[in-house]
Amino acid sequence: MSQNTAVNGNSFPPGRPVVFRNATVLTIDPSLGMFEGGDVLVVDKRIAAVGRQLVVPDDAVEIDASDGILMPGMVDTHRHMWQTALRGFGADWTLTNYFQFYYLNWGKIFRAEDIYAGNLLAAIEAVDAGVTTSVDWSHGLQTVEYADAAADALEAVPGRFVLAYGNLLGAPWEWTKAPEFADFIRRRIDGRGDMLRMQIAFDVTGDPAFPEKAAFEVARDFNLPVTTHAGVWGVTKDNSIRMMYEHGFMTPSTIYVHAASLSDDSYHRIAATGGHASVSAESEDNAGQGYPPTWLLRRHNIPVSLSMDTSVWWSADLFSAMRATLNADRAREHMEAHKRNETVMLSHLRAEQVVNWATLGGAEALGMDSFIGSITPGKKADLVLIKNDQSPVMFPLLHPYGHVVFQAGRGDVHTVMVDGKVVKYDHRLLGIDLNRTRQAVAKTVEYAKSQMGEQAWNQGMNPEKAKVELIDNPYTYSDREHDKAAQKQASQES
Ligand SMILES: [Zn+2]
Repeated sequence: MSQNTAVNGNSFPPGRPVVFRNATVLTIDPSLGMFEGGDVLVVDKRIAAVGRQLVVPDDAVEIDASDGILMPGMVDTHRHMWQTALRGFGADWTLTNYFQFYYLNWGKIFRAEDIYAGNLLAAIEAVDAGVTTSVDWSHGLQTVEYADAAADALEAVPGRFVLAYGNLLGAPWEWTKAPEFADFIRRRIDGRGDMLRMQIAFDVTGDPAFPEKAAFEVARDFNLPVTTHAGVWGVTKDNSIRMMYEHGFMTPSTIYVHAASLSDDSYHRIAATGGHASVSAESEDNAGQGYPPTWLLRRHNIPVSLSMDTSVWWSADLFSAMRATLNADRAREHMEAHKRNETVMLSHLRAEQVVNWATLGGAEALGMDSFIGSITPGKKADLVLIKNDQSPVMFPLLHPYGHVVFQAGRGDVHTVMVDGKVVKYDHRLLGIDLNRTRQAVAKTVEYAKSQMGEQAWNQGMNPEKAKVELIDNPYTYSDREHDKAAQKQASQES
């Protein structure tokens, strides 16, 4: 169509309807399914119609989605966004290195402006990758001033966010009781409606006195969900789950991050109380909270959402999360089968399922599935168009769910719409000042480096490497040389 040539970043003023034309549409809505040659019309922030060759308002701007995949915006249910200011610093860390760095040594040096810088970058990065909703598991909030900085950054970026308020340097039963905490929640909770929601983020130590009870009560009083790192090997164990259960604090809104290395009993308690897991496969694979638990969650019928945890180690795009989840689940099945001298004949986990977890699964975990998570008429329009006409990886497009999981990547995110607003078009973010963000993050890096000093900075980034224990080899190079020489002699003699 000729009108398409005129579409650019300025074609999307507020209030103008938008129609995506001729996409392979993954609605993730069970009654609509997946269909090719599909159109999606967006009017007044909402999905107005889904179908083929839709008749649209005269002033609708048309996005040519042919050869592309249109899917719901992705949902990340656990990410420590402030840590993005030190992107990639911990690539070679273990969980112990991480705890030493943030919890014991350097977490306290971060200032409110550093939280702002990290959050701003993380939020932009999420939106750019088609992650339209992110939970900011913000455990660097030493004071309410920090929390305001975190919320300010999230409000400065056109994405949907959940601020999960936490403070790794304090005791949750103390900071949740502070009058300024209550004031913060009241002051900011209704600020942006469904664009910024809140949770309370803390871990349950397993102390038999259950001091976390007071923090759970605050969450209950404010009607805020609790998100907690559960089943982290050697840190938060079955006792934590048992005490939450016995005190009546496990609810359908509770999110269990990682939920690895738990007993059947704990999984039963999570399932029975309707809680959701947030699986961070790339994190669990690398840091060692436990094996990514989807294989166990499936058997216990516990709903799954996906997350990326932290960009101090890993990426923040859910393409990686989906791929890591599928890889880990299938690897486990093979390993278990081989131990029994069997071959896996059928895969349990399918590409379609992980795309569902990355979208609707996240929305359900956050209690937001009534208005996001699928391409359903009436829901808010959080949409991602995966389309890249310059890429040899976008054709043939045969198995759309498999294409999303194993073929596409964040570079293929062509258009992103959040709350009906086009925030990225033709691979370019709209109205986002990356230079201001770059400068803010550079200041934080410079500051952190100066506080830590050159030596601690370098040691922090390059932890000692584990030693390889060589296995005795009965064969030796000299034997081989000897054999070769003998062969040579034999051939000369013959
Ligand atoms: Zn985490």
